[in-house]
Amino acid sequence: MNALPATSAWNLDADLATLDAARQRRRRRVVDAYDGVRLRVAGRDMLAFCSNDYLGLAQHPALRDAAQAAAARWGVGATASPQVCGHSAAHEQLEHELAAFVDMPRALYFYAGFAANVGIVPALVGRGDAVFCDALNHACLIDGARLSRAQIEVYPHRDAAALGQLLAASGARRKLIVSDAVFSMDGDVAPLRELLALAEEHDALLLIDDAHGFGVLGAQGRGSAAHYGLRGSRLVYMATLGKAAGVAGAFVAGADAVVETILQRARSYTFATAAPPLVVDTLRAALALIAADDWRRERLRELIAQWRAGAGALPGGWRLAESDTPIQPLLIGDNAAALGAMAALWEQGLWVPAIRPPTVPVGTARLRLSLSAAHTADDVERLLRALATLPR
Ligand SMILES: *Cc1c(COP(=O)(O)O)cnc(C)c1O
Repeated sequence: MNALPATSAWNLDADLATLDAARQRRRRRVVDAYDGVRLRVAGRDMLAFCSNDYLGLAQHPALRDAAQAAAARWGVGATASPQVCGHSAAHEQLEHELAAFVDMPRALYFYAGFAANVGIVPALVGRGDAVFCDALNHACLIDGARLSRAQIEVYPHRDAAALGQLLAASGARRKLIVSDAVFSMDGDVAPLRELLALAEEHDALLLIDDAHGFGVLGAQGRGSAAHYGLRGSRLVYMATLGKAAGVAGAFVAGADAVVETILQRARSYTFATAAPPLVVDTLRAALALIAADDWRRERLRELIAQWRAGAGALPGGWRLAESDTPIQPLLIGDNAAALGAMAALWEQGLWVPAIRPPTVPVGTARLRLSLSAAHTADDVERLLRALATLPR
């Protein structure tokens, strides 16, 4: 009774059936409890290799305490946009701390990374300008580029030479190079130094999205820009705070005029309620842990090395991606095969997500596992043993 007739332009059931046929329908699972990478799902204990909580901070006692103290101080809602009365002393302080942490002149905090990128790109470029995008950039960078109405030029993944040719050929007024720093579905790293050199050479700005590098790479987790020694006023550094930082939100840092321009023009900043101050104070506590706990990054490096050695030696020729980061995909190709592998691991109490198009290019479905400092060597061993039992 609730379906529209098949002849209606709104026959959405037909569209959904198409998704099912392509094995592309996404389903959510309800998680009842989180304890680092140990999750309780439908009465079962699952070991997760799917969270982006790379440092294992999301349930940290110090952050729970910070959140409680902040709720007692501030209440729970920010009540308005930051440009009305939603910008608290907590927000102001966090922005100073973030700028100092990444060693850039100024930072601006957004309530989410997706919102940050769809605001930042159109704030910086518009009609008559051009955005140069790596082919595997995150969806929110693509959407930001589309919203900007600037010309979009896509260069092959990590191909700085091809990018150089596009930049040289472009007659756009303002040129913005946009790239993930660590690619979210592959775990490889952009040629950041070359990108910045090209920005200098062609009077462009370089926006990097360090969602997966912040907290993980660089001394004290200061991120990819610090790790690769990127400096200068052509760099616009964006990172998210719901992954390694374990909380929520994102920030952009850069030269004063760039950050002020984003503050003035990013519609997702102006026309959205500020993040709750309790989230922001919790982030300040998370930042202190990120800087202090080198052992978490050390643990992560050991787990990555253990995984790569073990996965490389698995029977059946699994295709391990070229990645030194906590994102470690196993390429499979076919959607149904990737889902089958995920289901077989699930039966063994292991949650390893299958990632399919359109999130990744057609024909490159994969298991995308992510490692966390909350994993143990035994956890990685257990995953390797389970993979060895799967048919290839
Ligand atoms: C997760 C992610 C985002 C979005 O950040 P949220 O804070 O989750 O909205 C942006 N860019 C990349 C590369 C990401 O992986």
